[in-house]
Amino acid sequence: MMRLDKPAFSSETIRAMEDMSFFTHSLIFDDLLIIAQRETNCFVLKTDDGLIIIDAIWPSKKAFDAIVAAIKDVGWNPDTIKKLLLTHGHVDHTGCGKWFVERYHVDTYLSKVDDIFWQEHPTKPDRPETWKDYDIDHYLQDGDTIKLGNKTIFVYSTPGHTPGCLSYIFPVTESGENHMAALCGGTTPPWTKAEVKQYLKSLDYFVDVSMRKNVDVALSNHTAIDNGLERIEYSRKRLAYMPNIYIIGSDGFKKYCQVFRTMSHEMLERL
Ligand SMILES: [Zn+2]
Repeated sequence: MMRLDKPAFSSETIRAMEDMSFFTHSLIFDDLLIIAQRETNCFVLKTDDGLIIIDAIWPSKKAFDAIVAAIKDVGWNPDTIKKLLLTHGHVDHTGCGKWFVERYHVDTYLSKVDDIFWQEHPTKPDRPETWKDYDIDHYLQDGDTIKLGNKTIFVYSTPGHTPGCLSYIFPVTESGENHMAALCGGTTPPWTKAEVKQYLKSLDYFVDVSMRKNVDVALSNHTAIDNGLERIEYSRKRLAYMPNIYIIGSDGFKKYCQVFRTMSHEMLERL
């Protein structure tokens, strides 16, 4: 059977990133919640000292309300949100963070390079409502760790998609059993040859550190890359005896990352 080796993107994909009429969520691990609109998703990691939000969808109050509602729906308390980590300075990830800063006084984290990039190169230059609208409290760099309660998040510098793009590795549990999850910060390859080469170099580096950290769970912040919406729906309804679809083993993680290479090589052919 012929299967696609990469997702199909169209102008509809880009338009759907701003569609705030649909949200879904699922508790995919004991301590990890995913919330998605049609194309973009974020994560909430639970620690024994509060919650960490990773990425923030889109600068829309509807996205903020959906994230808070999902947190309540799984029985967690939004008043315990302590931190907001961003993978990179694009509007579909910096998202609705302004409301988390205002309402929950979260500490915000991003690389310094991407904080400047976010300010100086807005994704939508003609749309002020999408411009940088909150401050970053902590600048992250390669090798940093972020600790809260019983959780440590490992930070890796993976430039390419943006100049200061970050990727994260962190532990999660499935029915009390430990697993290691990896989130590649930048999904699609960039638009110049030099940047795509940098993106591929970062990918090799991230796969390498993921192997050393025994990563067996692959996460993405865009649903198009890995049948994200279908996996969320499966997870919402999965019965107790069914496998957790996010646990793919370290070989599975390497195969998963191949999609980023396939997209990059196709991009290089076009440039
Ligand atoms: Zn991006």
